[in-house]
Amino acid sequence: MTPADEMLERALAGERRWLARCITLIEHRQAEIGRALASMKVRRRAAPGAPHVIGLTGPPGAGKSTFADRIVTRARAAGKRVAVAAVDPSSPFTGGAILGDRIRMERHTDDDGVYIRSLSSRGHLGGLSGATTEVCDLFDAAGFDLVLVETVGVGQSELGVMEVADTVVVILTPESGDAVQAMKAGLLEIADVFVVNKADRDGADRLVRELRRTVSLGEAPWSAPVLGASARDDRGIDEVVDEAARHLRWCVDDGLQSWTLRRGDARIRRFLDLAASRGRLVGQHALNPDLRARIRSGKIAPHEAVEELS
Ligand code: GDP
Repeated sequence: MTPADEMLERALAGERRWLARCITLIEHRQAEIGRALASMKVRRRAAPGAPHVIGLTGPPGAGKSTFADRIVTRARAAGKRVAVAAVDPSSPFTGGAILGDRIRMERHTDDDGVYIRSLSSRGHLGGLSGATTEVCDLFDAAGFDLVLVETVGVGQSELGVMEVADTVVVILTPESGDAVQAMKAGLLEIADVFVVNKADRDGADRLVRELRRTVSLGEAPWSAPVLGASARDDRGIDEVVDEAARHLRWCVDDGLQSWTLRRGDARIRRFLDLAASRGRLVGQHALNPDLRARIRSGKIAPHEAVEELS
């Protein structure tokens, strides 16, 4: 057994300190942890909802952390074990350091059924989404029922993080602009559920109407519901949780193809990131179609695929 195998075994047995170390190794793209994950046959999220990964994204200050806190409280009341990965692409701090600032999550820190961890990009913006994919695999193997991935949705790289989610909840506010701006920011394509938070403020109803109209013009197989909420006042949260659950059921029953595509994109992203970090630049199109198909389907882990390159 390698030290990485041992570390992983302890992490999966529920030792948080070791879970934290494994995540740090994943962030640092350590090959040993990748090998350990592969050799332990850690399940590679083969089906939607195992665990349900909900992505929360939106502009800074939209209320993502407050929302995450509300969702965690509900999931705990339902007896679910929850992991939260707060992805902070712009943070100059190292992983974990910004956690102290996440006051809104503080009430859960003594709860054994909740694991909260921040992931920082350390200047590798593109790599973060790939790392998040593996962190979710780890949370899956460690027996969490719900995983929340929270990130600021301000650019393409940040949005890439959302590929890991089964259900993407985009949180906007009356102050964050109109539906056209949301569309330009690429939020329309990734949203499975839209929330206009801070509905206690003026302009929320108008934005809800605008977004509904814009969503209805699209031709996506899933039509994203648009809900008003106030995370601060704990209003409208149950509806968002219900819609996220409805979306997950849709993924299983009708939307498996969309789900599989998104999951495959996330795996390819991790593979390209790992390959680049080993000095092997592989253009997406230069990738051998057979290897690409095996990575996309999860038959081979991104780490194993990189080893096949050499
Ligand atoms: P994040 O940056 O998206 O994670 O946003 P936060 O959850 O940190 O919230 C930013 C600020 O908005 C905080 O001061 C919250 O208390 C406040 N806030 C969150 N939800 C609401 C809401 O529904 N209404 C109002 N008025 N303020 C809110």
